Amino acid sequence: MRALARVNLSAIERNVARLAREAPGCAVCAVVKAEGYGHGMVAAGRAALAGGATWLAVATAEEARELRAGVGDNVRILVLGAVSDAELVVALDADADVSVWSVERAQALADGGRGARVHVKLDSGLGRLGTRDTAEATAVVDAVAAAENLELVAAWTHFATADERGDQFFGEQLARFKAWAEPLRAAHPGLLLHAANSAALLRDPASHFDLVRPGVAIYGLDPFGDDPAQRDLEPALELVSYVAAVKPADVGESAGYGRRFVAQRPTTIATVPIGYGDGWRRALTNRGEALLHGTKVPLVGTVSMDNVTFDVGAVAGLEAHVGDAVVLVGAQGAEQITAEDVARSIDTINYEITTALTARVAREYHRDGQAPGS
Ligand SMILES: *Cc1c(COP(=O)(O)O)cnc(C)c1O
Repeated sequence: MRALARVNLSAIERNVARLAREAPGCAVCAVVKAEGYGHGMVAAGRAALAGGATWLAVATAEEARELRAGVGDNVRILVLGAVSDAELVVALDADADVSVWSVERAQALADGGRGARVHVKLDSGLGRLGTRDTAEATAVVDAVAAAENLELVAAWTHFATADERGDQFFGEQLARFKAWAEPLRAAHPGLLLHAANSAALLRDPASHFDLVRPGVAIYGLDPFGDDPAQRDLEPALELVSYVAAVKPADVGESAGYGRRFVAQRPTTIATVPIGYGDGWRRALTNRGEALLHGTKVPLVGTVSMDNVTFDVGAVAGLEAHVGDAVVLVGAQGAEQITAEDVARSIDTINYEITTALTARVAREYHRDGQAPGS
């Protein structure tokens, strides 16, 4: 196996249970879009349900179709994103709930005559999907409630800065949402309100309302980019590969395209068969690290599509042999590299590190080291 993502389904279950305890009385809608942030959408969805989630959310209609086939009929699936007319048919065929924020779309849905469960979205400040106009949002709610074939399920919003501690805007968005949504409950008993992503869930109980929508945290990734252990989150994914070739490099010999690493001292180069074609980002050129025999070794040279090289000689006494295990994300011995560490080294977020892993990286599922199913 060139590169393997080992996913601990029990960790996802425990993370969901831990998040559910943080929001007592709320339904948990686990977000499994983008192949479960790289962990595998259906497997992550099932683990989240085992951990206590009662809803799953995806971004697209096609994801809803695939997820429905994988998790069966008795789970509520919400499509968070915008859908075209053609995608709307796919979403409704998958018996997914959909998001609506214009009166025209609500009217078109009503006129279409098909049953649909609708979540009306207010743009309280993210400036992306949803309407900023609370009067329009209320008109959408009324149109959905008035349509025979439509079921008004929820009023919702999404935060822009929940992961930025100390910022004022989160509170402003929360206040705007509350002022709009809470009065609607009187007119529409049973209306669900929801707003919280992982960061909001962990940051402010006032954002929990009736349902919470954690994504990144269910995978044990920290929404604030800190060490996940600080918030009792367990990383579910390990990324491993192996030493495919070992060679000495004399002073002046180079490794990789563009000769961006040239040995300044006699050293040993280990080639590991993972590259940007697997989602190991090219930005990690001369920046990444991996664990070999429980020690961090520096990635040297350009990350290519299929291979990367490590300077084994940078660590005194370290030896590499063909076949040795290499851990790119995860623990080996007493050392650990988290997705947060990788993200920090290239100025991005942990979300992007796991989500970037391509289909070429095999996923292997286990439960605390045991075969799944057992
Ligand atoms: C992705 C997404 C989430 C989950 O966000 P995390 O930061 O991963 O917890 C929640 N709500 C919406 C609308 C999203 O798009």
